[in-house]
Amino acid sequence: MAFTGFETRAIHAGQEPDPQTGAVVVPIYQVSTYAQDGVGGLRGYEYSRTGNPTRAALEECLADLEGGSRGLAFASGMAAEDTLLRTIASPGDHVIIPNDAYGGTYRLFSTVSSNWGVKWDAVPLADPEAVRAAVRPETVAIWVETPTNPLLNVADIALLADVAHDAGALLVVDNTFASPYLQRPLVEGADVVVHSTTKYLGGHSDVVSGALVTRDRELGERVAFHQNTMGAVAGPFDSWLALRGIKTLAVRMDRHCANAEQVVAALTHHPKVTEVLYPGLPEHPGHKIAEAQMKGFGGMVSFRVAGGEEAALRVCAATRLFTLAESLGGVESLIEHPGRMTHASTSGSPLEVPSDLVRLSVGIESGSDLVADIEAALETA
Ligand SMILES: *Cc1c(COP(=O)(O)O)cnc(C)c1O
Repeated sequence: MAFTGFETRAIHAGQEPDPQTGAVVVPIYQVSTYAQDGVGGLRGYEYSRTGNPTRAALEECLADLEGGSRGLAFASGMAAEDTLLRTIASPGDHVIIPNDAYGGTYRLFSTVSSNWGVKWDAVPLADPEAVRAAVRPETVAIWVETPTNPLLNVADIALLADVAHDAGALLVVDNTFASPYLQRPLVEGADVVVHSTTKYLGGHSDVVSGALVTRDRELGERVAFHQNTMGAVAGPFDSWLALRGIKTLAVRMDRHCANAEQVVAALTHHPKVTEVLYPGLPEHPGHKIAEAQMKGFGGMVSFRVAGGEEAALRVCAATRLFTLAESLGGVESLIEHPGRMTHASTSGSPLEVPSDLVRLSVGIESGSDLVADIEAALETA
């Protein structure tokens, strides 16, 4: 029987009790190879780079939650991106990426993929006409992040899917910020969803891992071939941690969204804050689109501090509950300065972020404690 509720599928999809022992949680199959019943007589697995039961459970669960046909789990989000790119793009091909892409994604395109001969353009994806104008005959993919990191810009997935498909290209969506609980790009028309499961899916800042889900089974098989060939697979323990995190994704995301709204309310109109970037704000340019394609506005909030870079750095150093650290999406709240930390690699490029920008990953602690901590830190600005 197929269950439809997201919360139910997050706990059960791909995770039947173990047929041999009845274990209610998928065990960590910490194993490299599998006994064969006679030469070629496989019982489902052969070698753990090709496939592993713990990883397979995670892959099936993710495919189910995103509404796709094939899930694949990798050693990191970047490993998923690199493997996908080598599957869908060859030297001479062209990819359109966001002009405020995640710093690591920008670095992948601007260094490794460029050296390999893949061309790219960084375009503001919130402007569909700019995207259309950037399409070339050799464009094989439009690579979307929404909301973006760290500027929280919103792109219209369904519209960009049309632009991509008109050009005979794929629409790839990095769904790390929203998670499948808040946004399902494949349902909106995207072809591939990419995740850093390090973030909200894992949810506890205790694992680095990545994944992707394809709508089309044939494309999924092609990526699986590359995954097995290149070998950047998720290990059994990391897969188990990601699966365990996913079970509570729905309740965590609800609290992340509610706490972010409390923090945003405190920042808006604060005398030391010049701008708050959050898609839940009615004045955010992408608010209407976010409202239509997302179930909630997420736990990521960015803001600009009056007084410039020095003031922003002081605020980052002054919080007590928000930990000064890179990454995001864990139960604990984090604060960071993108210009000096996560996005330092974009310095001097068209993707450079404002130096007075502070990014928050709002956790699931008590909302009033988080507001009090930010308000106290802003006193130092
Ligand atoms: C963190 C992140 C990545 C990269 O994932 P890793 O697991 O760190 O390799 C990609 N995209 C976005 C939006 C991210 O936040």
